[in-house]
Amino acid sequence: MSVNDTPRSSRLHIALFGRRNAGKSSIINAVTRQDIAVVSPVKGTTTDPVYKSMELLPLGPVVFIDTAGLDDDGELGELRKKKTLEVLNKTDVALIVIDAACGVTSFDRQIAEIVQSKAIPTLGILNKIDLLETHTEDLDDLVRSSEEKLGFKVVPVSAVDQQGITQLKKALIATVPNEDDKFRIVGDLINPGDLVVLVVPIDKAAPKGRLILPQQQTIRDILESDAIAVVTKEYELRETLENLGKKPRLVITDSQVFLKVAADMPKEIPLTSFSILFARNKGNLEEMVRGARAIDRLQDGDRVLIAESCTHHQQPDDIGKVKIPRWIRQATGRQIEFDFANGMKFPDNVKDYSLIVHCGGCMMNRRQMLWRVEQAVEAGVPIVNYGVAIAHVQGILERAISPFPLASLAWKESLQE
Ligand code: SF4
Repeated sequence: MSVNDTPRSSRLHIALFGRRNAGKSSIINAVTRQDIAVVSPVKGTTTDPVYKSMELLPLGPVVFIDTAGLDDDGELGELRKKKTLEVLNKTDVALIVIDAACGVTSFDRQIAEIVQSKAIPTLGILNKIDLLETHTEDLDDLVRSSEEKLGFKVVPVSAVDQQGITQLKKALIATVPNEDDKFRIVGDLINPGDLVVLVVPIDKAAPKGRLILPQQQTIRDILESDAIAVVTKEYELRETLENLGKKPRLVITDSQVFLKVAADMPKEIPLTSFSILFARNKGNLEEMVRGARAIDRLQDGDRVLIAESCTHHQQPDDIGKVKIPRWIRQATGRQIEFDFANGMKFPDNVKDYSLIVHCGGCMMNRRQMLWRVEQAVEAGVPIVNYGVAIAHVQGILERAISPFPLASLAWKESLQE
């Protein structure tokens, strides 16, 4: 896979915040040694957040997000500020860029406080030190006092003449949390040499000529674990299992064929779905499992929000628009109203719903998905994802989450509520 093929949702999101003209775009260009961000002496050149994907060694694939200045004013300025603050919901590492000539301002402190309140790893950058007429000791004092005011490490740089950029990269690498082992897709469930069977329907809804992203990423994780991935369709599953010669460690299926797959394989082989694996990978499986119980409590007239984080072309038997509403109505026997939200904008009125059913969110990074779950939890609205909801309405949730002890526990607890 080439560098450019790494999906944005799998890239580390590094966002730059600060006042207008603090040099955020110049910092991106200096770190990447490319002219990828528009630089201008005119304040407020960056309006909407700008995303630049690239390979930053040794971190790997990252996306830099250049944001509008937080000191922007007027009606448009307020809109830009709102968009800048929305970026925080997907930021893995925040860089606060400070104009060295002005020092730490109230705007810088304000953004630092917001970032820290969200527990985002943060690094300060004191930019434009080439314009300071100070001695080294004075610069050291300025850095120290900036660190005291902000509460995190600050690196002095000049984006114009590359001063301090090497130190900035080192500090950035040290700031990035190492969560690779914490959030595996499937690698922590299998051992080298294990067989893992993936059930992938190739129907009209499947994209032409390729597997979808969650399937590709799962295969990659299995191969990285030195295990063996066997890919089959639902109609060939029985034959595949008969011909393997060894019991698979796990079967992973597309949620839409859960029932058929469950019926076609022995109960002692662990079974789960891509969607459940990705809910766990994004760090919210237990919440989603608790949300499944809310399906049983739905009443006539309740409103359910179906949320998808992309705007894909609707299929005749679309999973979100058609199948899930039909399955929930059938399982509950209730007259339920469904609303739909597609794309990166999450509705502000989630508290109006009795339940949110969310897609796997493959277009979003973990922070973004967790932020949506947080919005639901804060509003007191249960949230469940497609895979967990489908497993529940088809009566196989317990089996599908049995490989995950914490999720199984959350389910048992929810049954006692
Ligand atoms: S609906 Fe959700 S899971 Fe499906 S492709 Fe779009 S973002 Fe990914």
